[in-house]
Amino acid sequence: MESQPRGLLGIFAHPDDESFGAGGTLAMAAADGHQVWLICATNGDEGGDADESGDHAMDPEIRRNELREACAVLGIGAPIFLGYRDSGMETWAPKPGAFVLADRDEVVARIADEIRRLRPAVVVTFDAGGGYGHPDHRRVSEVATIAFDRTHAEPGGPRVLYHQAIARSDAEAMLARWDQEAEERDETREPTEDDLIQRQRFMELSRPDDEVTTRVNVGPVVRQKLAALACHASQMRGQPWLESPIEELEAMMGEETFVRVVPPPVPGQVETGLAGLD
Ligand SMILES: [Zn+2]
Repeated sequence: MESQPRGLLGIFAHPDDESFGAGGTLAMAAADGHQVWLICATNGDEGGDADESGDHAMDPEIRRNELREACAVLGIGAPIFLGYRDSGMETWAPKPGAFVLADRDEVVARIADEIRRLRPAVVVTFDAGGGYGHPDHRRVSEVATIAFDRTHAEPGGPRVLYHQAIARSDAEAMLARWDQEAEERDETREPTEDDLIQRQRFMELSRPDDEVTTRVNVGPVVRQKLAALACHASQMRGQPWLESPIEELEAMMGEETFVRVVPPPVPGQVETGLAGLD
C-alpha cells in the first residue's frame, strides 16, 4: 500500500525567496513536528553587485551556503538544489544554463520526481507573478504548479497547493514604507530602471485582497524568520530596514499570505494556517 503523503514542500527560485515570503510558515510547520523540505531551482548566482560592465555574477557556493544556514535556522531539512543558473532580472539577458532557458518539460519532470520521492501533503510555491515578476519566480511557479497537477492524482500524491502571494493593500503599504525610508535617509541616489520596474510590478502583480485565502500570523517566529534572512548576508547589504525596531519588523514581516489553489477555497473564507498538514 502507498504511504500517505505528509509534510510541506516549498519550491522557490533563489536562496532567500523561502525566508522572505514563507519563512515563518515553514518554521512553524517544522516546529509543529511536520517534515518540511525546500527545493531551490537556481544558485542565485546573479545576486552580486554590478561590476563596471554591469555584470552581477557571484560565487554560487556563497549563496548555496547561505541557504543551507537559513534552512538550519528555520529548522527545516537541507535544501535540494536543482542547480540552474540564476536568470537575472527581466531587463537582463539570461546566460547559458539560466533557469528560464532550461527545457520546461525537463524541469517539470525533475520536480515531479522530487514530489514522488518526498511525498509531501502540501506544496507551496510562488504566485504566477512571482511577487515582483522576476523571471525565475514566474518560471518556478509555472513548473511547480504543473508538477503538482501531474502528481496530484497519483497514489500518495500531494493534496494541497498554495501560491505565496502579496495582497494589494500590503504591496501599497510596502511601497509607502520604502518611500518614507528613502526620505528619512535623505536618499539622493536616483532609482535604477530595475528599481522602477520592480515597484510597478509589485503593484500590478499583487493580488486583490479578496483573492488572498490564507493569512498566517508568524509573529511567534518572526525573530527566527529575521535570523534566517540574516543568513543571506550577500543579499542583505544596504538593507536599512533590517535595523528597524523589532516592533516595526514584526508589523512588516509578521504575516505571510497565500492563495490556496487546490482544493479551491470556499468563497469568502479566510484561513489562518495551511490546510492539509494534519
Ligand atoms: Zn528570488
